Amino acid sequence: MFNSLSDRLTDTFRNLKRKGSLSETDVNKTVRDIRMALLDADVALPVVKQFTGSVRERALGAEVSQALNPGQQVVKIVNEELVSILGGATRRLNLAKNPPTVIMLAGLQGSGKTTLAGKLGYWLKDQGHAPLLVAADLQRPNAVTQLEVVGERAGVSVFAPERGNVFGHDAALESGEGTRSFGDPIDVAIDGVAHARDKGFDVVIIDTAGRLAVDVDLMRQAHDIRMETNADEVLFVIDAMIGQAAVDTAKAFSDGVGITGSVLTKLDGDARGGAALSVATVTGEPILFASTGEGVKDFETFHPDRMASRILD
Ligand code: GDP
Repeated sequence: MFNSLSDRLTDTFRNLKRKGSLSETDVNKTVRDIRMALLDADVALPVVKQFTGSVRERALGAEVSQALNPGQQVVKIVNEELVSILGGATRRLNLAKNPPTVIMLAGLQGSGKTTLAGKLGYWLKDQGHAPLLVAADLQRPNAVTQLEVVGERAGVSVFAPERGNVFGHDAALESGEGTRSFGDPIDVAIDGVAHARDKGFDVVIIDTAGRLAVDVDLMRQAHDIRMETNADEVLFVIDAMIGQAAVDTAKAFSDGVGITGSVLTKLDGDARGGAALSVATVTGEPILFASTGEGVKDFETFHPDRMASRILD
């Protein structure tokens, strides 16, 4: 990802760094080049405008530096502005003072929520937590089974719709493959949290339903799950490949459900990077994690500064 954007910016900066002095014309040309590169990478227009506006203003007003030549100074400004639109400082997961911490995953169908639930569970377990996955996606017939498979792979327990039943790894004894009544997802989420509290799981990860397009009913359902479970984190899961559509989707989830952060998935693909560069600005909330493949370990904490360096180096 970001290859083409990175190549374009590197070219722009190569010329810039050679210059001993920088005129307003040079700055304007650089800002134009950056704007084109970002638009070609599918970054949302308001984000591009905000970004180039800040870069231009700061580049023109930049103090003369002893250490950096004018070109290097602009590169530094671009780096800082990139870190800023990617969310600023690295944001850690917000863990509740009184466990269980409730983390809810929301996003379109296919964005990678269920896969992420397993990764997040695996990662938390690795850090000494006792996570529980809760299957509150009752929209797709296979979603519950899929979460159980994911949980098994990650070695993390799964709470599925049939009340009180825990399917999965270390809870296999308690479960039975009985018939399932696919009830109300809100009830399942509430029961899942209660079950975690009873059994000593300290983090609950709730997988919720998604549609291929934004859907008012599902949005309300996700909103209600959030309120009823008093979720500590509502993570908007977004496929980095979706390009310009990222903006409307992110805004819809942000307004309709209320989110506390985002997770970018499919960063291993050849997306141009627009969604990654737009989502923090559009939602006003940081990106917490990145998903980089289908395997349970293909997952990392998102560091805006490292991502900016990856784009600019
Ligand atoms: P959900 O509908 O939001 O729960 O999405 P899923 O978790 O079912 O993921 C949809 C598809 O994307 C599945 O085929 C996953 O294996 C795949 N997937 C999820 N995350 C990633 C990722 O980070 N990289 C790649 N390459 N594929 C992913």
